[in-house]
Amino acid sequence: MDYTLTEDQEQLRRLVEDFVTREVKPYWEKHGYEDFPWPLFRKLGELGLAAIPFPTEYGGGGLDYSSYITVLEELTRLGSHLGSVLSVHGLPQLIINHFGTETQKQKYLPAMARAELLGAFALTEPHAGSDAANINTRAELRGDKYLLRGQKIWITHGGEADVYIVMAVTEKGKGARGVSSFVVEKGTPGLAFGKRERPMGLPHHTREVFFEDCEIPRGNLIGREGEGFKVAMTALDSGRITVAATSIGTAQQAFDHALRYSTERKAFGKAIGDFQGIQFMLADMAAGIEAARLVMKKAAWLRDRGLPFNLEASMAKLLATDTSMKVTTDAVQIYGGYGTSEDYPVQALMREAKIGQIVEGTNQIQRMIIARELLKKLRQ
Ligand SMILES: Cc1cc2nc3c(=O)[nH]c(=O)nc-3n(C[C@H](O)[C@H](O)[C@H](O)COP(=O)(O)OP(=O)(O)OC[C@H]3O[C@@H](n4cnc5c(N)ncnc54)[C@H](O)[C@@H]3O)c2cc1C
Repeated sequence: MDYTLTEDQEQLRRLVEDFVTREVKPYWEKHGYEDFPWPLFRKLGELGLAAIPFPTEYGGGGLDYSSYITVLEELTRLGSHLGSVLSVHGLPQLIINHFGTETQKQKYLPAMARAELLGAFALTEPHAGSDAANINTRAELRGDKYLLRGQKIWITHGGEADVYIVMAVTEKGKGARGVSSFVVEKGTPGLAFGKRERPMGLPHHTREVFFEDCEIPRGNLIGREGEGFKVAMTALDSGRITVAATSIGTAQQAFDHALRYSTERKAFGKAIGDFQGIQFMLADMAAGIEAARLVMKKAAWLRDRGLPFNLEASMAKLLATDTSMKVTTDAVQIYGGYGTSEDYPVQALMREAKIGQIVEGTNQIQRMIIARELLKKLRQ
């Protein structure tokens, strides 16, 4: 495993840095965080960043996951708020690319790669989050249509996205094996959205999504009936590496702020960074980030070689998000009272870090997956 960036990855990183400096930061300063940043998203498409690891025949970049996570980490480290947008947009792309028919791939992937269509992933329901096989949204086959009824919650890009991958029950009483997945397009009669939810951390746009006798063509089934849970879990295995990447980006950004601040802020006649108490915090923060980054890189490295990676993906998600929580909290501590102020950047990073410990399987669920995989290996 090579720990340095390849020349192509370094070029991509520079492209991201240039884009964030020239366009993203001025955009946020001018427009604020209230609305989804459509111009920035479209620009990601123009720059070839909206489908990095997907096949070139469908307009993707044809690059490996290692390159993809380099971009996500860098977008987040630089405070663009676009790393998580790409990470979520990537879930429906993964699903369509992996399980979709040729017609579905041709219809959605090139437009998603150009960032003309935004994707969303709709699994969670008000009474079924971690226990995702317990969802209630129903999909009933009626002739050549499926009729969807139910409700999703916390759907990132809900109301904004054009393409929703929706998990729904096609056979009641069969648990995970009764779940199927569908593609539902914005504008379909019966697809409705609740008000914008306001989770902490910027700028997550989540909404409730309702299916009120929402009729979709039979051809919108992804994979086979009863395969929906597998479809969702397969996407989340890969998605977790991207959550690790954005969380490490957040942690690195907080660390960079804290390190600089420790040389500027004076107490007892010295820079606070001269005190061993602060130095030890900085050392632990840097070591934690480095360790989490290496596990994330290993997970991507395994995936790029077609080797099993779900154990390492869960470890990467767990370590990166817990590290990000700790590092951002310590960054606030290093800033002292100023750390809690909205005039300084670190409190927002702390709130953003918390989201990582919850999405795409909480960290309790990651521990369950890791333990299950370890026991499975022992028994084999
Ligand atoms: C900002 C944000 C964006 C999101 N985006 C999306 C999205 O785009 N699409 C989507 O489908 N969902 C999305 N979600 C939902 C997210 O995936 C769920 O919130 C998450 O899976 C947890 O489910 P829950 O909130 O129902 O918590 P619960 O499942 O009710 O869990 C509550 C607590 O119990 C713990 N717990 C549950 N079961 C166990 C167990 N067996 N052992 C130990 N502890 C356990 C959990 O870890 C947690 O701490 C998003 C959530 C947020 C906050």
